[in-house]
Amino acid sequence: MSEPLETIYDVLVIGAGPTGLACAIDAQRAGFRTVIVDKGCLCNSLFHYPAHMTFFTTPELLEIGDMPFSSPNQKPSRNEALEYYRKVAEHYALDVRQYHTVDRVSGSDGDFVVHTTDRFGRGVNMRARKLIVSTGYYDLPNYLGIPGEELHKVRHYYHEPHPFFGLNVLVIGGKNSAAIAALDLWRHGAKVTLVHRGSEMHRHVKYWILPDINNRVANGEIKAYFNSTVENISEDEVTLATPQGEVTLENHFVFALTGYHPDFAFIEKLGVILDAENDRCPICDPATHESNVPGIYLAGVIVAGERTNEIFIENGRFHGKLIADSLRSKLAVAAV
Ligand SMILES: Cc1cc2nc3c(=O)[nH]c(=O)nc-3n(C[C@H](O)[C@H](O)[C@H](O)COP(=O)(O)OP(=O)(O)OC[C@H]3O[C@@H](n4cnc5c(N)ncnc54)[C@H](O)[C@@H]3O)c2cc1C
Repeated sequence: MSEPLETIYDVLVIGAGPTGLACAIDAQRAGFRTVIVDKGCLCNSLFHYPAHMTFFTTPELLEIGDMPFSSPNQKPSRNEALEYYRKVAEHYALDVRQYHTVDRVSGSDGDFVVHTTDRFGRGVNMRARKLIVSTGYYDLPNYLGIPGEELHKVRHYYHEPHPFFGLNVLVIGGKNSAAIAALDLWRHGAKVTLVHRGSEMHRHVKYWILPDINNRVANGEIKAYFNSTVENISEDEVTLATPQGEVTLENHFVFALTGYHPDFAFIEKLGVILDAENDRCPICDPATHESNVPGIYLAGVIVAGERTNEIFIENGRFHGKLIADSLRSKLAVAAV
């Protein structure tokens, strides 16, 4: 069931994360008829973060649309953030089409057709003069490419500790996600082993998390193998390559928390060029965020290509203003 194709939105935003919402608010405030489309729910990535996580950022740095984010906590929880972004969407009466995956885009500047599939597999097409792409990076894990990675017991997302009580769990990775998951699992009764290819936890681990994980490792409460990699995963075991040689451990579950990356194939399919010399950053004008494809703007973490730790909510939330400024001039011309 398609939108009546005579409906032409001024702006269609792909991705209802914090960045997409901020962009839609700015476009709407500039007077443009705006719609947002997301493959999942509102703030789908945040929804899939660990259930009991706490943000690294203080609430005011997560604010969008000039709406205060008040929390009794120094750093808000995932639940508080979801509540906040729901309220923002409600306050600005944002038109969000959830559970519609954008598969491809046809047409060109001034008259794009956005081809989506809903959760029942039905095609829904929508027309828009301009597009903003803010599709994030959390849907595609960085796979290790090791034997056994395809087993169901291997997870690339960590949600909560309860199902792993009393079990042997291997956590792969040395950054925040791995440290937080290892600590949470250990605190809730899992027998945790951590393996990291670096010689110690990564320098990006937050200063309040680092001593906690280091102390658990020093006390032997979490067994850690540094300068080590996972060679093989089987139903009941994992095999590690360590400086002391091969080590085989009994294992029930593996969390491979080795990062995520933007959907580069999707971005390229839009006609946007990725700069191979610059960590696959999509070509886009830093002043307006318009890509090399006229009428297609890029926002949020995707702008930094493979450098997914460069743009986050704190700074990506300002991209919408730059885009709205550009739209103001260009769409006024297009609408005549
Ligand atoms: C555990 C964790 C903790 C973090 N803590 C912080 C923090 O404290 N502070 C901070 O600033 N940042 C933090 N970050 C980073 C931050 O959450 C991300 O950088 C941020 O979500 C990026 O926002 P975004 O809107 O660009 O992308 P996302 O929030 O990922 O939103 C992208 C949206 O696009 C949708 N989408 C993707 N492809 C399609 C498609 N083809 N069709 C339709 N919809 C699509 C997705 O479903 C998703 O809803 C954290 C990240 C993680 C993983």
